[in-house]
Amino acid sequence: MLLAGTYYPPGSSQAIEVALHLEADVLRLSGEGVELVEPLEACVLSEPLGRMARHFTLSDGARIEITDLEALAEWETQQRRSSGLHWVHALESRWRWVAVSVLFLIALMAVLYLWALPAGARQLALKLPPEVGRVATEQAMQAFETLFDFEPSELPEARRDAIAAQFALMAAAMDPGNQRDYRLKFFHAPMPNAFALPDGLVCITDALVEKAEHDREIFGVLAHEIVHVREQHGLRNVLQNSAVFLIWTLMTGDISTVAGMGSALPAMLAQTGYSRGFEREADQGAADYLIEQGWGVQPLSDLLRRIDPEGFDLGKTGEAFSTHPLTADRIKALEDRASAAGK
Ligand SMILES: [Zn+2]
Repeated sequence: MLLAGTYYPPGSSQAIEVALHLEADVLRLSGEGVELVEPLEACVLSEPLGRMARHFTLSDGARIEITDLEALAEWETQQRRSSGLHWVHALESRWRWVAVSVLFLIALMAVLYLWALPAGARQLALKLPPEVGRVATEQAMQAFETLFDFEPSELPEARRDAIAAQFALMAAAMDPGNQRDYRLKFFHAPMPNAFALPDGLVCITDALVEKAEHDREIFGVLAHEIVHVREQHGLRNVLQNSAVFLIWTLMTGDISTVAGMGSALPAMLAQTGYSRGFEREADQGAADYLIEQGWGVQPLSDLLRRIDPEGFDLGKTGEAFSTHPLTADRIKALEDRASAAGK
């Protein structure tokens, strides 16, 4: 079959009018200064799209535009009749591309979710002005006061002052040159509990202080909370969760949920558990501090064991907002840290 076409050499805007011979297996091209023979297998023919011109793309990237759509369609019908294989091949390679694209997309999303999102949230949380942490802390505290029954501490003032003095020393040692306003607040609440808020406010309940058989056990918990503040685990958590939430909203198109997000933020800070990774990091930081003091990790592991003798997740009775790894795992990780430090 003979067709008229326009030849565009690769990487050039030059247009050359050519005669196109379509034979059983090859495409033959002749025009001014152009003589080409190309196996049809190596050529890609664009899909029909309305009345738009179609084109062959050759293996070197050159294109041949064809405007006689009827003649081309007739040739295609002949081709298909004479060799169904071409068609199967085209379909097959298309499906392969779809499969590859889908796999690529899944891999990309996994990388974004598992690596880029946490890394981005970390960068952002550590760079946010302290004002953001202050506002978030204020709002979260209000949420806490409605969620939990927090009464003023009943511990003697001297006892509280002594613990707070050690806490200040620890914050200075563990987070030197920090921009946070580290301070310790005591509450009377029925469960042994401690938690940290983004601006450096660490809260501890009387029950936890009373559960401790040695002050070092309290300091172990406080060290754990200081790491949560230093690494900004609270804000990172909220940022990561709201990013997923935002992307989901964009995908599903349900905009109404976005409006509710601003007001949901303090509740998220209060109720979303830390990831196990954050808990582990806080435990490791606390272990490093305890080891440095020459106390070993026992103060923290003893207290964990005592608060949670049955090995339940500490999330229920421990930190207000946490899904802790199983206590046994945490204690094992602490001991591993200690034996690594001892070597
Ligand atoms: Zn924690």
